[in-house]
Amino acid sequence: MAELEVLEDAAVWIADDGWIHAVGPYQSLARPASGAGAQVVEVDGVLLPGFVDAHTHAVFGAPRLEDHERRARGVTYQEIAAAGGGILSSVREVRRKSAEELRDLTARRLHHLLRHGTTTVEIKSGYGLTVEDELKQLDVIRSLRGRPPRLVATFLGAHEVPEEHRPDPEGYIRLLLDEMLPAVTRHGLARFCDAFCEPGVFSVDQTRRVLEAARTYGMRLKLHADELDGSGGAELAVALGAISADHLAAISERGIAALAGSETVAVLLPGTMLFLGQRRQAPARRLIDAGAAVALATDFNPGSSPGMSLPLMAMLGVPYRIGARCRIGTASIWCARRGSAARLVTSGREP
Ligand SMILES: [Zn+2]
Repeated sequence: MAELEVLEDAAVWIADDGWIHAVGPYQSLARPASGAGAQVVEVDGVLLPGFVDAHTHAVFGAPRLEDHERRARGVTYQEIAAAGGGILSSVREVRRKSAEELRDLTARRLHHLLRHGTTTVEIKSGYGLTVEDELKQLDVIRSLRGRPPRLVATFLGAHEVPEEHRPDPEGYIRLLLDEMLPAVTRHGLARFCDAFCEPGVFSVDQTRRVLEAARTYGMRLKLHADELDGSGGAELAVALGAISADHLAAISERGIAALAGSETVAVLLPGTMLFLGQRRQAPARRLIDAGAAVALATDFNPGSSPGMSLPLMAMLGVPYRIGARCRIGTASIWCARRGSAARLVTSGREP
């Protein structure tokens, strides 16, 4: 994780079809590029790939300003949720809003994410919690495809038990398994399935049943795991072969060992813990030292993390010992020229 290659006095050669043709020292690229009739564009600063935000809840109605105000007065996340705020108030908002309204709101947010350097955004459903409203959220994501940023949809029907199912949470699990997952699959609306595995939300057993069913529909798996109290979500993510386990502020020693021996990526969300007023963060340094793959994301959502900037999350990662050089999404190529402009070599078009 600490191996970060920085090329100085570097160039990127972009071919006519828009793909990167070569990256390397300027001198070795200049001659072949100019021989091919390339146009040279000088760039002042550092060139790096677009960021990948692997965890957002960007389709929502309104920010939960009342929750923010209560939190400023010292009320906890759990107390806010018990008083009818939290995720369930975002559910009421999404159910009230039309697909067109949600689409307009989300399009504006995507524009801001792009301005922060994010070129790929994962977006979850999970504020509908009925068949119709989950499909509405996922369809909003689909309708916004085709222009930057690139979008990746995740079905998060197991985000919370909705109010109407509180007397019978198992009835909600049956709705997820028997109606929501088949409908999402039939419409081809989500590549991933996620679940909030946390005491008081979904148990390890309930999470396992939902995600195992999703896997039979061909979805890849992610988990909201061990966020505040912890219940073994990280171990479950590894056992299920999930692509990521996200949050992890309450991960156990066994969870750290499980992730270290797996391909499952620990996606850490420092903005959320900061905004919730928590003093602790996920044990990122220990995860990295143990051999786990660690990425950072914003968790951009209307209640617990209003931040849209991955550079800000990277900055938070430093004092919280998440590591100054950890990966953000899949960023892997950095080009810089100290004290002068990096050179971007293009062929016939503006980058
Ligand atoms: Zn989340």
